[in-house]
Order: sequence, then C-alpha cells, then structure tokens
Amino acid sequence: MSLYKAASSFLLWIPQQTNPAQKFWPILAVTLTMSKPTTTKILRNSLYKTTTTASLPTRDDLLSFLLDPSTSQLDLHTVHTLLSAAAAVSALPKYQALQHEHNTPKHCARCHATFTDNTNGSTACVVPHVFDDASASAIGADHRRFEAACCRAEIIQEMTHGRRSGPFTNMLEVGVHFEGSHTEDVQEVSRDMEGGSFNGSNIRWCKVEDGECVRDVLDVDENPIFYDGIELYSL
Ligand SMILES: [Zn+2]
Ligand SMILES: [Zn+2]
Ligand SMILES: [Zn+2]
Repeated sequence: MSLYKAASSFLLWIPQQTNPAQKFWPILAVTLTMSKPTTTKILRNSLYKTTTTASLPTRDDLLSFLLDPSTSQLDLHTVHTLLSAAAAVSALPKYQALQHEHNTPKHCARCHATFTDNTNGSTACVVPHVFDDASASAIGADHRRFEAACCRAEIIQEMTHGRRSGPFTNMLEVGVHFEGSHTEDVQEVSRDMEGGSFNGSNIRWCKVEDGECVRDVLDVDENPIFYDGIELYSL
C-alpha cells in the first residue's frame, strides 16, 4: 500500500472513532497526505536514474529472442509482460500529448531548418561561415586569404600554378560559425553573444512569404560558402 493510500484510509477511518484519545490521527493523516508530492518526487527521481542506466531491449533484440528456439514459455510470458507495460505507457494521455509535442515540426529561428524536439540536440543546428570573394588578399605568390563576413574568421587558399582553384588549407581549424541546438525563440538567437546572433550574413531573420519562411538552410557540407547565391540584406 502506498503512503498516499494509507493516509486516505486513515482519513476514512477517523469519523468512525469516538475515543478522544485518538485525536492525533487527523494530524498524522494530514502529515501523510502532504507527503504525497515528496513520495512522487522520490519515485520520479529513482525511475529517472534507472531509465538512464537500464538496458532496455530494442525491437530487434526482442524479435530475435522470440525467434530463438530455446526461448521457454516463462521467457515468453516475461516478454508479454514487458509488451503489455509498454502498451500501457504508450496509451497514457499525458505521454501521448508529450509525444505529439516532441514530434511536431518546428522552424529554427537561427538556421531556418525544420526540426522536432526528438531530432534536436546540442549539435543539431550548424551554421557555416560565409565569405566575401572581394575580401581576398594575397599571401606571397602561392596563397590568398579570405575573411569571413560573419565573424572575421580567415581561410587560406593555396594557389595552384597561379590559378585560383587550389584547396583551402585550414578549414578544419576554422570550423563552423555556430553549432548548438535549434530554437524557435528569436530572442534566444538575438541574445546569443557567442557568435550565434543575427548578423545579416549567415544568421538572418526569417523571411516569411505566405506564412512560411523561405530562407535557405546554409549547407555546411559546401564549406566554404561564398556570397554567390546568398541573398544578403541589412539587419
Ligand atoms: Zn563566422
Ligand atoms: Zn537551427
Ligand atoms: Zn526562418
């Protein structure tokens, strides 16, 4: 019996008592009733810890276990219990509401990608630097340097026999302009002082047409990205 049920039973039992010596029962019952949130909190914390560390079987694990000829009837009953419990959790209205919320498509105010809470994470939102071709300056006869329009990061291009088609030598060290979580919150992007705020070059306000943002998501695989093809606008 849970503490909460025990407390409720005491409350039902009290009116039946006539002995004044039992006056302390209401006090005890109220104390136990008030302890319900604490009990829930303890259980929640305990389950949270267990869930983060428990080895939960995957669908494939279960399917191969069921197909294994050595699986006993008792084993099958255990799997049945697991599936019934999983179905019961999936049917909980609050669980379904949360799942719905986590799978609802959202629009990132920073990179303009579509995301869901389930696909979001600390490395989901990636914004590459953008460079201006006109910022090129020669380094000797063999290299030239480009300055990023977004944050002044510099990339060096090797010249191949005087031609401009050589490789960029320091792309890995320069990395990307921003990496973090997607967000719908314009204020969060505005306040991001670590390079993730609106700058008019690679992090731009949404451009909404017919109720939808039409900004392209800058493709980090195309690093380095030059202005060609990027529509710039002032803040
Ligand atoms: Zn940058
Ligand atoms: Zn994003
Ligand atoms: Zn947008």
